[in-house]
Amino acid sequence: MDQVVEGMWLVPGGSSNWVIVKDPGSSSFTLIDGGYPADYGRLLGSMRQIGLRPQDCRVALVTHGHVDHIGGLQKFATEFGGPVLCHADEVRNLVGPQREQVTIGRIVPRLWRGRVRSWLRTALSLKALEPVSITPAGVFHDGETLHVPGSPTVFHFPGHTSGASAFLFDTAGQRLLVSGDIAITAHETLPDQTPRLRILPSMFHRDRTQAQASLDQLMALQPDVVLPGHGPTLRLTGSDVADRRA
Ligand SMILES: [Zn+2]
Ligand SMILES: [Zn+2]
Repeated sequence: MDQVVEGMWLVPGGSSNWVIVKDPGSSSFTLIDGGYPADYGRLLGSMRQIGLRPQDCRVALVTHGHVDHIGGLQKFATEFGGPVLCHADEVRNLVGPQREQVTIGRIVPRLWRGRVRSWLRTALSLKALEPVSITPAGVFHDGETLHVPGSPTVFHFPGHTSGASAFLFDTAGQRLLVSGDIAITAHETLPDQTPRLRILPSMFHRDRTQAQASLDQLMALQPDVVLPGHGPTLRLTGSDVADRRA
């Protein structure tokens, strides 16, 4: 678990991350994403480790409706009743069962790569095939600042999925960007595990070209720190930004 700044944590699950942002004046908090279905115990454990009670979750924000980001949230919302919000264009990915997600037909031709087989084994062990459906309590819009702990501003960056969104926090003079799968720093299927900002391999995107354009637009926000959907937190320097296409 990475405490990025006072009151904000990036938590690595079995394969993907979630983020917890505590309200400075109370015990309530914002949760962003929630791992695979089998991450649920880890999700609750991460709150308790920080000293937060699951029932004090004010809202769960969703970067996008892939099973590695909403699997744990379904159980969480059912048990604790916290409202789940997503972008209007992402609602059908949360509800399912059809969603803009990598298909077995796109995975099979790549199974000759050991790292793809290894990722698939991990995903299945985290119950990637368990049925997941969340009906969001509401939607947010591009440019909206949400009145929830941390007061993030929403940025809609389609491409990975139709309604993929990032959340920008202005905390202690730093611009902290929770990027979901719009910008990741590492992933089991990538040959180079050195953390740097990039998009996932093409099989994971609804529209790879749009996903690349969205990464460029996200970088134009000039975040100081990126908390990605996969891989560790990245603190950016000027050269990181210049080298991001390298
Ligand atoms: Zn995804
Ligand atoms: Zn993901």
